[in-house]
Amino acid sequence: MNILERYHAMEYGPAPEARNEADAWLAARDFSKALFIDGAWKAAASGKTFDTGEPSSGKLLAKVSDAGAADIDVAVAAAAKALPKWSASSGYARAKVLYAIGRAMQRHQRLFAVLESIDNGKPIRESRDIDVPLAIRHFIHHAGWAQALEKDFPDHEPVGVVGQVIPWNFPLLMLAWKIAPALAAGCTVVLKPAEFTPLTAILFAEICERAGVPKGVVNIVQGGPEAGAAIVNHPGVQKIAFTGSSEVGKIIRKATAGSGRKLSLELGGKSAFIVFEDADLDSAVEGLVDGIWFNQGQVCCAGSRLLVQEGIAEAFIAKVKARMSRLRVGSPLDKNTDIGPLIDRTQLDRVEGLIAEGARQGAVCWQPDAALPASGYYHLPTLATHVSPANILAQEEVFGPVLAAMSFRNTEEAIELANNTRYGLAASVWSENVNLALHVAPQLKAGVVWVNGTNMFDAACGFGGYRESGFGREGGREGMFEYLVARLPVGPAIKPAAAGSAQPVEQADGTAIDRTAKLFIGGKQVRPDGNYSLGIAAAKGKLAGEVGLGSRKDIRDAVAAARACKAWPDATAYNRAQVLYYLAENLSGRADEFAARLVQLTGVTAKAAREEVEQSIERLFLYAGLADKFEGRVHQPPARVVTLALHEPVGVVGIVAPDNQPLLGFISLVAPALAMGNTVVAVPSERHPLVATDLYQVIEYSDLPAGAVNIVTGRSAELGTVLARHDDVDGLWVFADVDTCARAEADSIGNLKRVWTGNGRSLDWSSGEAAGEAFLRRAVEVKNVWVPYGD
Ligand code: NAD
Repeated sequence: MNILERYHAMEYGPAPEARNEADAWLAARDFSKALFIDGAWKAAASGKTFDTGEPSSGKLLAKVSDAGAADIDVAVAAAAKALPKWSASSGYARAKVLYAIGRAMQRHQRLFAVLESIDNGKPIRESRDIDVPLAIRHFIHHAGWAQALEKDFPDHEPVGVVGQVIPWNFPLLMLAWKIAPALAAGCTVVLKPAEFTPLTAILFAEICERAGVPKGVVNIVQGGPEAGAAIVNHPGVQKIAFTGSSEVGKIIRKATAGSGRKLSLELGGKSAFIVFEDADLDSAVEGLVDGIWFNQGQVCCAGSRLLVQEGIAEAFIAKVKARMSRLRVGSPLDKNTDIGPLIDRTQLDRVEGLIAEGARQGAVCWQPDAALPASGYYHLPTLATHVSPANILAQEEVFGPVLAAMSFRNTEEAIELANNTRYGLAASVWSENVNLALHVAPQLKAGVVWVNGTNMFDAACGFGGYRESGFGREGGREGMFEYLVARLPVGPAIKPAAAGSAQPVEQADGTAIDRTAKLFIGGKQVRPDGNYSLGIAAAKGKLAGEVGLGSRKDIRDAVAAARACKAWPDATAYNRAQVLYYLAENLSGRADEFAARLVQLTGVTAKAAREEVEQSIERLFLYAGLADKFEGRVHQPPARVVTLALHEPVGVVGIVAPDNQPLLGFISLVAPALAMGNTVVAVPSERHPLVATDLYQVIEYSDLPAGAVNIVTGRSAELGTVLARHDDVDGLWVFADVDTCARAEADSIGNLKRVWTGNGRSLDWSSGEAAGEAFLRRAVEVKNVWVPYGD
């Protein structure tokens, strides 16, 4: 066919990217020594290797050293040895290293892209234009954070040695998201790529050698789940950053519970792609192609659930099918390819299995009439219609080129359907009415919302999920916090409630008002469901009063009341500020009474008690003042788009308050949670709950809407466990003994709630460090809403 004939036929000719450089690179290496530890290349101690193959052909690419626990020990030791010098080096010194990495990657940009496409199967257009440039930008962007560290993050220090485990779908980009912020913060790392895609990480390690990264600062080990688990469980690692499946994320949450190590989890998703009837439909179709067929749908934030407004559903689906028929499935190294192979035979089988099950459950699955390449793990783009919200294709992450389509009638229904998932990673909203889009975005339970767009990422903008999509953010300012620890005024270890504490005691000490405090749920004082009470001892051992013994049922009622309270999260920040000021005012009116109570219960001097009350009032004032000041930011990524990093309340927050300084401790935790619009279920000090039950009247007179604060007295360990297991609790803060803290973390995996504990240590609540942004940050989720502009 000559050029003219080809032009008239409008047929594509192949446009292969040259692979000789990549093949030469592969041929020149000894992959049996592929562990990059302490600046040297090592074989696995066991001598074992694993195979990495080419998804487009199934052919073997390399036999790569397979690290075991012994190799991880060596890597962690190298990272620990390098830590003091690296973390003490100046921000400028670290910035230069990060910049040098970015520049060296730029010089090998094409090799990175070709290797990535060979090893992972993703189309070269994607690796060349998206993965690699974004990874480079990440290093260069974070050079700036290294230098800004001291000024921008006062009272923070590097967390230490970091263990990082990443998946195969964006091998280089995920590596960049992990390593760049860690190095900027002054941490040293041991990173494990996924066993399917080791190659670009090996090239990256070579870049580190050349870019002057000091030995031991970056250690890259290759291997599978066993090596991953060895990193996660290593006592020398102070923080784990994991990206991968929700299933493994939960295993890691459980394994690290009680270890005091920091954890961030970037997990799976089932993101909604919402098309309103006033959307630009052709743009929305192009967005959808990118949303679900980018990287063959093997994307954590893939727009895999299409929600389209009823009136345009038929026309839109017809356009989608027409566009699907034009998608080119083929070699990842062909520049015209839209869809390459899936990563592996196992993934192909999984996708096929899910489609078959979805069809069995009533979905109608459609694929374009196209031929697949003869070898490799290819799968045609697939559209499932007639999908009920409960269908497996609407609920499970397929991680393949499969779109599940549903329709909705109005805005409320769209939001409800979008949120009908246990995940919460991303969403796209398509409408020409920006008012509507910005009305919907805050109501979506997702960490990232793209308006009239999809899959936009940038190093300056945080990325991460809600709910079972994990916790923590990568990128930007919020991502830096993941590698830093705030200096808190840590005190002695908290003793577990002694057998005798909170037990009925014999006799009143005469100073108590004879009154049994009830629980405070939904704005009312209610009797505990079990109708049991606990006698509370005064400092001198006599009975100071009785409180209700809260149970699982009471916590359930309290959580339901907290969830039902919309008035508080919906209130303006200014409104919330006024209510908190009013609480302070009312507490101040009863300061003498509270001081006397503290003397009675804790035995502190009258002066110390008075001080604790004053500080509690001051703290309420502080958070009232900050309620409308701890705000989000606006990012301007290098594109015609603004990214609104909004601070949203976490939701329903459970709080297990400490025994020490029981009034101040209680208020220091409840007030920041309330200030940011959360509703609270608080378990007050087990030993001294009467200071909290005395607050009921203060609360009742303070215009706090019913359900905003609920107080359940009783045994901290038991009630903490109920809160941890409750899937409608979004966040949990525990300041109790070490076992209660550990259990809270281990028991939180149902919905992967955000758990913050003192790791069994008390805080000095009177210190200025026990208040402020470090607390408010725990009380918010950052949602990044991307809004493009221009014609
Ligand atoms: P995976 O969880 O099976 O594996 C991820 C990594 O964890 C691999 O390196 C693997 O070797 C390691 N691993 C496996 N078992 C382990 C264990 N018990 N302990 C420690 N490490 C272990 O996930 P995958 O199949 O490689 O990747 C796909 C998943 O990753 C999808 O669910 C996807 O949504 C998710 N993902 C999330 C994001 C995000 O930012 N939220 C980004 C990319 C991918």
